[in-house]
Amino acid sequence: MSYVEDILNDVKEKNQDQPEFIQAVNEILNSISVIFDEHKEFEENGVLERLVEPERVIMFRVPWVDDSGKINVNRGFRVQFNSAVGPYKGGLRFHPSVNISIMKFLAFEQIFKNSLTGMSIGGAKGGSDFNPKGRSDGEVMRFCQSFMNELFRHIGPDTDIPAGDMGVGGREVGYLFGQYKKLADVHVAVLTGAGLEYGGSLVRKEATGYGLIYILEEALKSREDTIKGKDIVVSGSGNVAIYAAQKAQKYGGNVLAMCDSEGYIYDKNGIDLSIVKEIKEVKRGRIKEYLDYSGKKSSAEYIQGEKIWNVPCEIALPCATQNELDVNSAKILAKNKTKYVAEGANMPSTNEAVDVFLKNKMIYLPGKAANAGGVATSAFEMAQRSSRIAWTFKEVDEKLKRIMINIYKNIDAVSKYYGYENNYVVGANITGFLKVANAMISQGIV
Ligand code: NDP
Repeated sequence: MSYVEDILNDVKEKNQDQPEFIQAVNEILNSISVIFDEHKEFEENGVLERLVEPERVIMFRVPWVDDSGKINVNRGFRVQFNSAVGPYKGGLRFHPSVNISIMKFLAFEQIFKNSLTGMSIGGAKGGSDFNPKGRSDGEVMRFCQSFMNELFRHIGPDTDIPAGDMGVGGREVGYLFGQYKKLADVHVAVLTGAGLEYGGSLVRKEATGYGLIYILEEALKSREDTIKGKDIVVSGSGNVAIYAAQKAQKYGGNVLAMCDSEGYIYDKNGIDLSIVKEIKEVKRGRIKEYLDYSGKKSSAEYIQGEKIWNVPCEIALPCATQNELDVNSAKILAKNKTKYVAEGANMPSTNEAVDVFLKNKMIYLPGKAANAGGVATSAFEMAQRSSRIAWTFKEVDEKLKRIMINIYKNIDAVSKYYGYENNYVVGANITGFLKVANAMISQGIV
């Protein structure tokens, strides 16, 4: 049995109740297996055995009182997976689906994503099964304060720096930071995605979506192609989806459809993003309300209970959640001659769907490379905050673009070097892995 097979069997055996974590480890380890003959030092130093085990998992009770006076208890998590390259960094997710499997898969992916940015940040993730949807500001604040009452002792600007993710935006980061400051009595960059008034960075809100389009445009450019004039489907209508759609439109793409977890809107004349922003960023409403705003003469339609991937497109941008694009949807994309899939979300495509993309010679940019712009800009936020200076929008945006172009060039070069041209799963995973593995070896058996 090979080194990789051995480790994979062990991970499956020990984590039988964690399907998403096993899926993520499977995808990464299988795609890097080609390097182990050339690099015996990884096996000799037990790198994989150590890499698949989190350095620390924290799970805690989050009690809070709702507006009716009822006591609620949620579960809080922080998975500090790997700090070989730098302090732990990764978002917090508040969503009812959160459990240990999802936290571990996200933290594991984050290790390689953060490594790909070229910055000194390790991998972590956290969150809670709390559902902020439909909760008042007061309830969200009390929940965030209770969550931080425990988390604050495990994080710090040189230890672990959380950020937002699904269900955690500017409002939540504000409440979390306020409570951290109250408890630790320091005003430091311990949470990124902060408001501009208290140390946040310009472009952070837009970074993941913009970064996705920058890396995509680079991939197209190297094939003498362009986003301009292409039909695009973007899943989700949250932070990543909105700013990916905005930048795609800026580059001349036709964004035809967007969705939330209940249904999608389709407009053959292109989605009006100002409406989506009003519904999602201001009203915290549902995507079906789009029709109330767009007026009777609009060509928009709302389709419920159907996958957004049925809409024919040349570019598919999954920006909603894990495993939203399965093998059947992938086959529909292939049948509709979709040429490019770039992931704004984390692991939105199942491993079987990815096989369909690669078999059909679609250019597929996996999330850990394509959505790394968010965490890269979080690292810019840390740099600005600790040096007490603020860069302009243009300065941050240019740095973000440069990082995304570099990521593309690196993963392209590595995939070619190992004889897997156009396979960016291999390119991204090997590039991300090598830096982490070498850092682990340098630091001894810890
Ligand atoms: P948000 O909470 O802002 O938005 C998530 C969107 O996805 C919502 O529109 C939500 O709809 C929709 N959605 C959730 N589940 C489904 C589903 N099963 N089918 C269809 N739509 C669904 O989250 P973000 O935009 O911040 O994050 C989206 C993805 O991007 C996540 O995978 C996240 O981990 C990843 N990511 C985010 C980064 C960031 O900077 N924010 C950085 C890197 C990755 P509804 O309101 O109905 O739930």
